[in-house]
Amino acid sequence: ATRTGHPLREVATHCPYCALQCGMVLREEDGRVSVLPRQFPTNRGGLCQKGWTSAELLAHPDRLTTPLLRDPASGELRPASWDDALAYIAAGIRDVQRRHGRDAVAVFGGGGLTNEKAYALGRFARVTLRTRHIDYNGRFCMSSAAAAGMRAFGVDRGLPFPLSDLGQADTLLLVGANPAETMPPLVRWLTEQRQRGGKLIVVDPRVTATARQADLHLQPLPGTDLAVANALLHIALTEGYADGDYIATRTTGFTDVRRTVAGWWPARAEALSGVPVADLEETARALGTAERAIVLTARGAEQHAKGVDTVTGFVNLALALGLPGRPGSGYGCLTGQGNGQGGREHGQKADQLPGYRKIDDPEARAHVARVWGVPADELPGPGVPAYQLLDSLGTPAGPRALLVFGSNPVVSAPRAARIEGRLRDLDLLVVADFLLSETAALADVVLPTAQWAEEDGTMTNLEGRVLRRRALRPPPNGVRTDLAILADLATRLAAPGTTADPSAVFAELRRASAGGIADYAGISWARIDAADGVFWPCPREDGPDAPRLFADGFATPDGRARFHPVEHRPAAEEVCAEYPLYFTTGRVLAQYQSGTQTRRVAALRQAAPTAFVELHPDLADRLGIADGEPVRVSSRRGEFQAPARLSPTIRPDTVFAPFHWGGTARANSVTNDAVDPISGMPEFKICAVRVAKAGPP
Ligand code: SF4
Repeated sequence: ATRTGHPLREVATHCPYCALQCGMVLREEDGRVSVLPRQFPTNRGGLCQKGWTSAELLAHPDRLTTPLLRDPASGELRPASWDDALAYIAAGIRDVQRRHGRDAVAVFGGGGLTNEKAYALGRFARVTLRTRHIDYNGRFCMSSAAAAGMRAFGVDRGLPFPLSDLGQADTLLLVGANPAETMPPLVRWLTEQRQRGGKLIVVDPRVTATARQADLHLQPLPGTDLAVANALLHIALTEGYADGDYIATRTTGFTDVRRTVAGWWPARAEALSGVPVADLEETARALGTAERAIVLTARGAEQHAKGVDTVTGFVNLALALGLPGRPGSGYGCLTGQGNGQGGREHGQKADQLPGYRKIDDPEARAHVARVWGVPADELPGPGVPAYQLLDSLGTPAGPRALLVFGSNPVVSAPRAARIEGRLRDLDLLVVADFLLSETAALADVVLPTAQWAEEDGTMTNLEGRVLRRRALRPPPNGVRTDLAILADLATRLAAPGTTADPSAVFAELRRASAGGIADYAGISWARIDAADGVFWPCPREDGPDAPRLFADGFATPDGRARFHPVEHRPAAEEVCAEYPLYFTTGRVLAQYQSGTQTRRVAALRQAAPTAFVELHPDLADRLGIADGEPVRVSSRRGEFQAPARLSPTIRPDTVFAPFHWGGTARANSVTNDAVDPISGMPEFKICAVRVAKAGPP
């Protein structure tokens, strides 16, 4: 007990934010919760500023502790009882489905939800609501890398090897990744890699904190990464670095790729991307001569309307060099959201069932339907990807009601003003969150949910390592867990069989995933507790888990990886006389995703108080803009305002802004809603804008 007689509580858990899932200890003393770092393989005792301050939101004055219901007379959100709020939602769902059919109700989830919640949400949509419309914000995060991984390797696990392999690589190529700002503890692996004599090469249009640490920085024009990838493979083949045995015995489809990259001589790539031939050659040689080499992509390469093909270009490069499956070598994607990996494995995606199964595969449907105790032919078919779903809301052919769990699309969706309008057109909008996000502020009903320190469950980090999230204490009075909300709603909708108990949900998830690509059948909470997590696939409790994939074969029918020829194509929107500048979005260290949480933490707000527009001084000079002066960024879709931040490290033809803020500083007001045809990933990383002094309002 503490001095005042309160019990002292302590629990070993993980950070609530990004996919590194750093280990931490939460300690409650005299009612106050503090964060202590914890030795764990991913962070080795390190935490970033976001992790250190994560407990502040547990007792934040903005925290929601009672349901809110919109008063029809005043139009204001007013406190309501749980019974009234849930009864209103159940009646609203019944009414919308009676008038417009089952698919008129949609569900939108998040990559921060635990595996149990992601699974329960998919089950709720397909069994309780019997709607085909469910998708989630992970579609905006790493869906392009997921699709590229599936078509090349037959499996999508962000890193198919443990993080510690990064430290072993002689050459490490980071494409569109800025871990020094997004996941700082990971930088230790990069430091270790260079201390061992390794070479770090970064591809990024901006001189980021990560690029500053690199031995070589390639700074291509936004949207030209695929040309860079093809040119690197061209050089590798020309200079004899390809691994002929590996290509012959472990892959298929190389001939077509060789033909495609033959046209990508380095000077052509330089003319398009601006990356000097000498730098392309140095990169290809560093990869080709290394005993161990790793190629990693992240959002910079992936958030394009050609994101799947861009990632595939780098996968082709890795395969031609014979990297995947060798220790300290391979291709991987740095997943962003806390449970970005697990969130896409358990049925939250429009086209998937638990275990990373395809929803249109009859065998998969039969298996999952058996676990769920429903006839397979009653399971809905595939829905549509996130942006398409959001953009159809409230339209004559689209859903009339939406339930949002763990997401804030008003800030995070591309062309956000249009999506905000769609949400306003709905007959019923329900948001479950612990803060009044910009999306929750539009809702008809807001349900206050538990925070990460108040519930048990599992998360799957960027390595495919399944971890335990452990509760320090129960939720405060008036607050419920997402699982309890889903279970109560299912009962009210006469579709019982769901439970609020996360361990029971996980037990069912294991059965549902058994035999799938992401097989959790052999993973129990006890097994996770006994080790530093368990890597999937893990089909048997008495069998091994899988820290490294592809040593003996790939997850394709013939065990071989697939090359796919991919060609550069222009961005969906190019610059022109009216909109002469490229615009690209990204993140800053002290904020996370749509900022709903981190903008409310005092130290983070102090470190990154506002949005900004990064401009090259030459461009600012031409436009008559001084450092710190408010500027307006406009595209064909909208505009936002933020202070200028002059930086000689950005290309003079490109402007950058972080997307963590809403209101008039919402960067996604201008982004393009063109999407990748395979993954549905929007083109967040490039559109055409003009910039001017903001002037008086
Ligand atoms: Fe949390 Fe990610 Fe920071 Fe680690 S790097 S403390 S997981 S936000």
